[in-house]
This record gives sequence, structure tokens and C-alpha cells, in this order.
Amino acid sequence: MLPAVLPAVLPAVSPAVSPAVSPALPHLLGLLPEQLVAVAHQAGAQLSDRQARRLVAHALVQGHDDLELPGQPLSRACRATLEGALDRRRLEVLERVEDPEDGSLRYLFRSPDGAVHEGVRIPLHTPGRFSVCLSSQVGCAMGCTFCATGRLGLSRNLETWEMVAAWRCVRDEAPGRVSGAVFMGQGEPLHNYEAVIGAARLLSHPCGGRIAQEAITISTVGLVPQIRRYTAEGHRYRLIVSLSSAVPERRASLLPVAGRASLEDLAAALRAHHAATGQRVTVAWVLLGGVNTGPDEVAALRALLGELPVRLNLIDVNDDRPEGQAYRRATALERAALHDALRDLGVPVVRRFSVGRAQGSACGMLAGKHGGSAAGDSAAGNSGAGGNGAGGSGAGGALEGQ
Ligand code: SF4
Repeated sequence: MLPAVLPAVLPAVSPAVSPAVSPALPHLLGLLPEQLVAVAHQAGAQLSDRQARRLVAHALVQGHDDLELPGQPLSRACRATLEGALDRRRLEVLERVEDPEDGSLRYLFRSPDGAVHEGVRIPLHTPGRFSVCLSSQVGCAMGCTFCATGRLGLSRNLETWEMVAAWRCVRDEAPGRVSGAVFMGQGEPLHNYEAVIGAARLLSHPCGGRIAQEAITISTVGLVPQIRRYTAEGHRYRLIVSLSSAVPERRASLLPVAGRASLEDLAAALRAHHAATGQRVTVAWVLLGGVNTGPDEVAALRALLGELPVRLNLIDVNDDRPEGQAYRRATALERAALHDALRDLGVPVVRRFSVGRAQGSACGMLAGKHGGSAAGDSAAGNSGAGGNGAGGSGAGGALEGQ
């Protein structure tokens, strides 16, 4: 289901989107305690606020799918009613691919309708700490030309519970503490606004994932109306905006859907976000050798965002299509020149790496291998562009370099 928040800028490019997985029943993993109370009451069960909080914690903190609360169990009648009112199906793990070079573990999940989507466990700098990169859609409608997922097209949005279930699965198997979540996997998170914000709420809820709001990152290719809405709603999750070019025509050709909005409008939305939050604006930039590393980009960036405190995440493109079709990586010389010019501008630069490359499982590759997006769909030659999740902000690309 596409949310009502879709702006006019979206898609003629979207293929037909199949309906959500389980429209009939709300899923236990997609409900905040107050929503669970409302669902229970609607079904005729008496569930107190406290019981609802315990039930959400039972599912999300303890990782159980049953309704058997220890200590003070629900009444048999309440349990029976909830069993009929809640969806409690699970994601299936089709594959786990570990990359010994960067320590990431990529998961391929299958939803009950057969849709496949990816998540990644990412080691953080602190030993024993991890974050989880989550997909927000099955495929993507944004069509960024350097991205494998973009070539799959959009099959459907993921539901809140599917994102939460993916996170829970990765957390439960992690050999340490999972203390973050990044919505940078397949799909454009703000194109599935309601469900992504719902998942972020659950992951940061004290009865839910219990992670700090600031440890949740939402990445976007730069959908202006949604950024404005996000700002107006006052969320404290971190926002990363993928730019990849500050030259209008070039950006429009690289990021065709996002590029339909003017860069001035995007810059105004970022200014408003900064004014409201005081946060430095984080911009993702997929480095495309010979395309977006030149002095024209630095000048355009300066003109566009000059007065804003900006941090730039540079991500090497990861395109394994045959030579002649693929974007090449920037050379060391190109990267250094860009780096130096940005430093002269006073823009802090962080180099990020798309994880899973050593095992040929960078973002989108596993899903492509297993049929692309939804069950039965065929993969359009997936070449795993390093950036996924919002214009190459790097699915799983949370590994920082220097
Ligand atoms: S880079 Fe992100 S927004 Fe662009 S097509 Fe890929 S998944 Fe979609």
C-alpha cells in the first residue's frame, strides 16, 4: 500500500504495487502499547495499558511470538480473543552471508507472501556493539542509476512489523549488543513514511527495541514534502540526505525521481530542518569516477548549502555490471582532490564503505539472486550498487573510514 503522504512528485515511474501482506489483521510486532490496547478493545478483549506494555516487551525485548506472559498471565479469554485479532507470523531467514573482511552479516528474509528483502548486521567501532541496516521497501521506485535495487523497481512497501521483525531477528542472533538501526537498505524510507516512522517508534520505545532515538538513522534520497513533514513532526532520529550531485541536470539524471524536485526546494527544506533541530545536515554522496568528483560539484555544493553546517559521507560506488555499463570507482586522485576541496570549504568528510562486498553480497545482490523483490518477480540484473537506501547512503554502509 502506498501511503497518503506521497507527493505529486512521485511516480509515474512506479510499477504496479501489490497490496500489503496482511491487511486483515494487525501484526503484534507492528503495534505500540496504546495501539495494542485499541486493537484488543475493538476485538472485545479487556487489555490494560500495563498488560499491553508487558506484551510488547514480551515480543520485542524478550523476542517471543506467543501471548504467554510469565508471572501474571493474561486471562484465557483475553488470550483467545487476541489470538484471533493479531497476526503473529514470522519472517523466514533464507540466507545469511558473512563478510570476513568487514565483519558484516547480511540477511535475506522472506515474508509470508514470499517477498524477499535484506537486512545487515553491522559491527560498530566499539567491539561487541552492532547496528542493523533495514530495508523499507521490496525494491525501490526511485530509479537511481547507480543502484541495483533501483533497477529492480518497486514491488511493495514493507510493513512496520516486517522491519521490526527483521531488526529483532538480527538482534537475537548478534554476539553482542545491538544499539542502533539505520534505514538505509533497499527502498526509499520516506516513500514508505508511515510504516518507517512506526518502526522507528517501536525500536526506540522503552518496551520495544529500547534504542536511543539518536541511534536511529533514516536516509532519504531527498523527498522534499516528506522532509518538511518529518521536520514538522519533530522527530529526533538522524536524517541523512543523499545528494550525490549539486549540479541540477546531473542530479536529475543520476537520481531521476528525486531530481524532479528543485535543488533549491531541497536546500530550503534542509535549512528548515537545521533551524528546527540544530543538527548538522548530513549529506551522502556516492562517488562516481569521472562523474561527480570535480570542482564544478564543489562550487555547486557551496552555492547550494554554503551557509549550512554540513557533513559529507562519501561512499564508493559498487557497481558490478559489465565494463562499459557500470560506473567506475573514483580514483585515489579524484577522491583526494574532492576531499581537499571540501576541506577548504570547511565541510567535514567521512568516508563510508558499503559492507558485504567481499562476499558479493553488497546491497541488493542477495535479493536479486533470489528473484529480486517479491516472490515470483524476476530480478533485473542486479549489480549491487554500493549505495542503497536513499541514494546510496550505503546499505549497511555504516563502516566509517578516514
Ligand atoms: S539508491 Fe536508494 S533510493 Fe535510489 S534506487 Fe537505490 S534504494 Fe532506491
